[in-house]
Amino acid sequence: MRTLCFSLLLALLMITACKDEGEPKVAKSIESMKNKGLPALAIHGGAGNLKKLNLTAEEEAEYHRVMKQALETGYALLKEGKSSAEAVVAVISILEDSPLFNAGKGAVFNHDGVNELDAAIMNGESLDCGAIAGVKRIKNPIHLAKLVMDSSKYVLLAGNGAEDFASENGVAFVEPSYFFTEHRWKQLQEAKEEKDMKLDHSGLNNTDPDAEKKFGTVGCVALDIYGNIAAGTSTGGLTNKQYGRIGDSPLIGAGTYANNATCAVSCTGKGEDFIKLSVANDISSMIKYQGISLDSACTSAVQKVKDFGGRGGCIAINTNADIAFAFTTTGMFRGYINAQGILKTDIYK
Ligand code: ASP
Repeated sequence: MRTLCFSLLLALLMITACKDEGEPKVAKSIESMKNKGLPALAIHGGAGNLKKLNLTAEEEAEYHRVMKQALETGYALLKEGKSSAEAVVAVISILEDSPLFNAGKGAVFNHDGVNELDAAIMNGESLDCGAIAGVKRIKNPIHLAKLVMDSSKYVLLAGNGAEDFASENGVAFVEPSYFFTEHRWKQLQEAKEEKDMKLDHSGLNNTDPDAEKKFGTVGCVALDIYGNIAAGTSTGGLTNKQYGRIGDSPLIGAGTYANNATCAVSCTGKGEDFIKLSVANDISSMIKYQGISLDSACTSAVQKVKDFGGRGGCIAINTNADIAFAFTTTGMFRGYINAQGILKTDIYK
């Protein structure tokens, strides 16, 4: 009897102890979910055969300056408690406003000398996403993509429908001439000439005419202090593209994807290959089904792009603040601020 009483007392004491210990643990884990306090973000400004671009020291410095400005702006917003999606929009807007990158102000021309812009954003917590394609008068396409995500029942709006939605929602329009830059115009003329040359000398020249081009699309992935990740991508597409052509950037799962359970991804490269291989979703799926690291998934995905005959790269982040970059080209404009607050920007391999 005494033994039984003692055992019962011991069991009661253990239950009480577990309860006492258990409650704060649960409370603590909810608290840490609410505020992990470790924002981080990464950007890209396109991949390409960058050594051949012969950037001057001044030009290189300007790329680094704008990337740093974009990263610092996004990081400050994340630190003050803005969501990862809000930071992605702010960061990409800065890159869109710079003529250096193939998005917004610096967008490339299609074959007809018109700028047609695509963008997408995705929220890793809710899987909400928004995208726009083929807009011609929207100063910051990433803003409109977020508006589609937040204020419409759709995921992707294209062309006039997207622009009508923008004007109904008070989005700022610019004249198409806003997107004119001399160097993009020159690139279009060169691309047109190269196409002629390739046709004229197709038997003599085995070199891919795209090989020297860079993909200047911009992208951002971010982790906010609430532990949520988001991804965004914005682009003018490919120089000399046919009107109406849409690449991977605004297609969820191809050029852009985010899911708190796996990662947030933004890609750059020849969109047709990234669409065929569902690159952004492939990275997420490899993490989900194979349990591999963020870095391995990105490396493996771009290797598949390469094996497929494509070119380009990607950036990714997860809720642990791991950041990964991978590209098949000799360079990719890129940068990050990690969870330790360390900022780094880079161009070449
Ligand atoms: N992926 C973009 C597209 O194909 C181009 C780029 O990355 O620069 O539209």
